[in-house]
Amino acid sequence: MDYFLTEEQQAIQEIARQIAEEKIVPVREELDEKEEFPRGILETCARSDLFGVSIPEEYGGLGGGVMEMSLAVEELSRACLGVSVSYAASFLGAYPIILYGNEEQKEKFLPLIAAGEILGAFGLTEADAGSDAGGLRTTARKDGDSYVLNGTKQWITNGGEADLYTVIALTDKSKGARGASAFMVEKGTDGFSFGKKEKKMGIRASSTRELVFEECRIPAGNLVSKEGMGFIIAMKTLDNSRPGIAAQGVGVAQGALDVAVNYARERHQFGQPIIGFQAVQHLLANMATGIEAARALTYAAARWIDSGARDISKISAMTKLFGSDVAMEVTTDAVQVLGGYGYMREYPVEKMMRDAKVLQIYEGTNQIQRNVVGAALIKEYAQKT
Ligand SMILES: Cc1cc2nc3c(=O)[nH]c(=O)nc-3n(C[C@H](O)[C@H](O)[C@H](O)COP(=O)(O)OP(=O)(O)OC[C@H]3O[C@@H](n4cnc5c(N)ncnc54)[C@H](O)[C@@H]3O)c2cc1C
Repeated sequence: MDYFLTEEQQAIQEIARQIAEEKIVPVREELDEKEEFPRGILETCARSDLFGVSIPEEYGGLGGGVMEMSLAVEELSRACLGVSVSYAASFLGAYPIILYGNEEQKEKFLPLIAAGEILGAFGLTEADAGSDAGGLRTTARKDGDSYVLNGTKQWITNGGEADLYTVIALTDKSKGARGASAFMVEKGTDGFSFGKKEKKMGIRASSTRELVFEECRIPAGNLVSKEGMGFIIAMKTLDNSRPGIAAQGVGVAQGALDVAVNYARERHQFGQPIIGFQAVQHLLANMATGIEAARALTYAAARWIDSGARDISKISAMTKLFGSDVAMEVTTDAVQVLGGYGYMREYPVEKMMRDAKVLQIYEGTNQIQRNVVGAALIKEYAQKT
């Protein structure tokens, strides 16, 4: 289907597709096996300006938005979700600065992120604060011209590899979520270290690690916006980044469909290619239909967000939950189309299925996305009556 992409958007798609095919596909199995961070591939993305796609032009980016980020993420995800999430998490770290940073913060950090010279990350989750992000315990105490951070963040994508971390911490414990604030913390700051690196089911090329703060002193100027804005900044950041998770879903699902169709054309059983069996065709038809629906919703939502729409939480949640559910279903069906071969590491679909699962979990589980949509419906319909 033609989505009427601009020339610049087509160029972004083309570059990301080329990197995916030439640089990621040949090594994805090895990266997964060795749990190796794709530093070299990210450097290629940087040289191709892909880290600048949704950074404003005045700060060295290409001036695109959620749509451009989603297009790049989709193409990289077609080859490997472990690589694409390492790329996308840098935007997750950058969005708080783009959306709420002051001029000085934008000028200092955004050009470096746009050039891919520094990698970003976003630290909200803690051991006892997952879906209930309001339960966080990390604190930031004001002390003269500094804030002093104490606490541990868990499961942070790009942990240890990123240079700049946007961290949500409590400046006023008595106020719960309303007492949370957002801070930029640079790697190498005294009192900031990295804990356990997780061993995961999928996206094994990505780094998922603890951030440990022990009397970590940062300049007061690293506070993003004002004290008490941390929870709002985190939620708005996720509203902007969730279409990127849907794009990851569309990409990995498309990658799985490509493998499944090609396999079904070549695999012979009962004297004919298995694609001749209607049961197999129906599986493939459902996969293709889900992918196109998820892609259309993702692009529509991304364009709507980029148009400056204000109340984007519902559509963003819908996009994330639909795209990730499609990804899980399609990758599982792709394994089925390949039968026993699909279960073996020799073919990429078992990795795609392992990778896809996390899309239903991170940036808010799909149960939480349904809660967001449900709450929005209650509000909308109450206003109508
Ligand atoms: C690989 C990976 C990378 C990640 N990267 C990052 C990162 O970069 N930065 C970051 O801050 N976090 C990150 N996370 C954390 C992620 O966002 C959380 O795992 C997620 O929000 C869910 O929290 P939880 O795992 O604690 O699950 P829990 O909140 O403990 O949920 C457990 C189960 O209960 C359900 N549940 C909980 N509350 C409700 C409710 N109110 N209604 C219905 N169901 C409910 C959930 O849907 C889930 O099925 C990452 C996680 C993973 C696995």
